[in-house]
Amino acid sequence: MDAFQPLVARSLRASRLVSRLEAAYPQGLSLSLESRNPFEYLVATVLATQCRDERVNQITPALFARFPDPFAFATADYEELLGYIRSTGLGPTKTRNLIALSRLLIERHGGLVPATMSELVALPGVARKIANLVLADCHGVVEGVAVDTHVRRISRLLGLTQSADARKIEQDLIECLPRTSWRNWNNYLVEHGRKCCIAGAPRCTQCPLLEDCPTGVTLVTQLGP
Ligand code: SF4
Repeated sequence: MDAFQPLVARSLRASRLVSRLEAAYPQGLSLSLESRNPFEYLVATVLATQCRDERVNQITPALFARFPDPFAFATADYEELLGYIRSTGLGPTKTRNLIALSRLLIERHGGLVPATMSELVALPGVARKIANLVLADCHGVVEGVAVDTHVRRISRLLGLTQSADARKIEQDLIECLPRTSWRNWNNYLVEHGRKCCIAGAPRCTQCPLLEDCPTGVTLVTQLGP
């Protein structure tokens, strides 16, 4: 199997990969970030940058009790807000972004989370990954594929992209994945990256994607019988 096939072959393989993932994780995939409304989800996705969802879920109940809406975040004391979110990493940057994005939400959108890609990516700290998640999960609009560290790594291993750039990876995935799978591709690969295709220690011989994974086929062939 060529590492990077022509689009038609890649699309056929991508469809099979989606079916294999659906079969491997039949319990369905639910949102792992806890929130009660679109604003809380937006904040949680910002906090989840370079942080595990479980950690974010640990701190958000107290955070949202103290700062319940964009107006509270927009007028937050920097040091106090930083204290609530520091443990998610990148604390100073996230604090500045959350205050600034809350002010922009109030100025431009009446405090509501907008429903277009262009409006979302104009918010501080919001790139396409977050925007894709918020659009799909808060507004039911699927415009692209959310590319996080799992999607970036495993999509490359699967030979669905050769790029290291998130925007190009998303374009490659949009080209070959069935549109109906765009939203779930992120969820499936997060799950698969934790359970089977573990960074630095992929369990290829047990992987349900092996037959359609050029990296796995190569690795298993090298291992020999
Ligand atoms: S076959 Fe190996 S490299 Fe490919 S997705 Fe599975 S675990 Fe990852």
